[in-house]
Amino acid sequence: MKQINHLIDGKHVPATSGRTSPVFNPATGEQTAELGLASIEDVDAAVASSKKAFESWRGMSIARRTKIMFAFRDLVVRNTDEIARRLTAEHGKVLSDAAGEVARGVENIEYACGIAEHLKGSYNENASTGVDVYTVRHPLGVVAGITPFNFPAMVPLWTIPNAIACGNAYILKPSEKDPSAPMFIAELFHEAGLPEGVLNVVHGDKVAVDRLLEHPDVKAASFVGSTPIAQYVYETGTKNGKRIQALGGAKNHMLVLPDADLDLAADAAVSAAYGSAGERCMAISIVAAVGDIADPLVDAISERMSKLTIGDGTNADSEMGPLVTKEHRDKVAGYIGTGAEEGATIVVDGRDQDFDGDGYFLGVTLMDNVTPDMTVYKDEIFGPVLGIVRCETYVEARDLIADNQWGNGAAIFTRDGGAARDFQENADAGMVGINVPIPVPVGYHSFGGWKDSLFGDTSMYGPEGVRFFTRPKALTSRWPDPATSSVDLGFPTNG
Ligand code: NAD
Repeated sequence: MKQINHLIDGKHVPATSGRTSPVFNPATGEQTAELGLASIEDVDAAVASSKKAFESWRGMSIARRTKIMFAFRDLVVRNTDEIARRLTAEHGKVLSDAAGEVARGVENIEYACGIAEHLKGSYNENASTGVDVYTVRHPLGVVAGITPFNFPAMVPLWTIPNAIACGNAYILKPSEKDPSAPMFIAELFHEAGLPEGVLNVVHGDKVAVDRLLEHPDVKAASFVGSTPIAQYVYETGTKNGKRIQALGGAKNHMLVLPDADLDLAADAAVSAAYGSAGERCMAISIVAAVGDIADPLVDAISERMSKLTIGDGTNADSEMGPLVTKEHRDKVAGYIGTGAEEGATIVVDGRDQDFDGDGYFLGVTLMDNVTPDMTVYKDEIFGPVLGIVRCETYVEARDLIADNQWGNGAAIFTRDGGAARDFQENADAGMVGINVPIPVPVGYHSFGGWKDSLFGDTSMYGPEGVRFFTRPKALTSRWPDPATSSVDLGFPTNG
């Protein structure tokens, strides 16, 4: 059985805990690797390596750091197929979707290639007579990233390039469910010339995460995952004096107004609900259908669902793959029964579709007449299950978002500029789409939700990412003529 080890100081190092976690191919149900889980000592070794590497990395010129970043970007682009292959083999998403994930990650490397521009400080000459004041941004030191199973390549790339380009040393703790793609990406970074220890990878579970959150030499941690763990990471990390950004779960609403283009809205709902088997934090899980568009919209969505091809993500004709684990597939299937018991109308039941073999497949589900008091509305299902909430007015639909626990993404489909403008201003979510169902910002803006979708003050990547991984230092300097010097006990004022 293939063993997956830590990557510390540029070397593959086995875990010392004696504990392991199996890695499966979700399309076949076969175990493909055994992952060593970190002990406290393993994490300490990674932190010690990163701390040492930071001392020289932070002093390396922007020019040299940027050259490595450009080389890394080229290697990731050239190896897109291999990264996508690893993603599909352990996550299950179809190869084209996996390649799309890599492409979105590359945007973040490209942003970090411009780090010279992003790290420019500000300078006021002659702020007071003969006195200059300037602010520069310094790296924090050793920082950590803890990432989820659903974007094993893209989410690590949300933070690693910026953190490292800013001069930090980074320790990644990827999801234990699909570790091969992030490991390969870390190897590519070394191939690009990154010095040993600047990027270490430790695999593990709560033991590793807790140690990273309490280790005195770790200055900040960036987390993406489910809301309960995000809140735990935020509270534990901040209690230990660390800077934390912790992105949590979501329940993203797509409003469809009566004047929307029906085909456009139906295409968008199906793509955004069932792409990657609904295992996206920006997936649409609720369509709020306003007024008399509801009936034709449900018909148009169901018709499109019947044409979807579900299968092994390596098959070119598969549009949707399996779910990540058997347990998760069973949990998602359980929600369909819960929805029916609570009074939702199951228009299409994913449990009815049969699949050959032992893969963790589930058909796509559409539930109509979902109401906000139902479990299937309140919980994040994180699978190929779309709920329709019927609303009488636009305001009723918009206010569903305000009343919801989460505020990651929200979208509106309409031709009405006034409604769209109101939605832009009043939708209670961090990322809003107007006739765009999955409004993931480009790499030079920043990604982050509101409410229980983000704990902390900064969102990820882009300008906010650079701010998160640096701290400002304000300098005041004077080069006086010694001939004019005298003692003055007054408070320094400007003049
Ligand atoms: P998860 O919370 O189970 O795991 C995330 C990370 O935390 C993993 O590295 C895992 O090993 C670690 N972890 C798990 N349990 C832990 C514990 N008790 N203590 C400390 N660490 C622990 O999430 P997941 O199932 O891997 O990912 C899916 C979730 O991530 C969904 O809720 C999804 O919405 C969310 N997500 C959010 C965003 C976003 O941008 N807001 C993006 C992607 C995924």
